[in-house]
Amino acid sequence: MSGSGSGNAPRWMTCPICQRQFLASESEALPFCSSRCRLVDLGRWLDERYGLPMPPEEASEEETDEP
Ligand SMILES: [Zn+2]
Repeated sequence: MSGSGSGNAPRWMTCPICQRQFLASESEALPFCSSRCRLVDLGRWLDERYGLPMPPEEASEEETDEP
């Protein structure tokens, strides 16, 4: 009456940075394969933020010019 053995099954994940497959239990920087890829992701984030000339418009379409 046990499960079908899904307790200790190794979990494979794909690193979003280097697209490599790795064991979730062998990484110390999930969801990345290593702390290195995590840093890369962080760098991209910061790069994107500083690269943006202006913040995206927020839904402000409720401005009506009706007297
Ligand atoms: Zn990676």
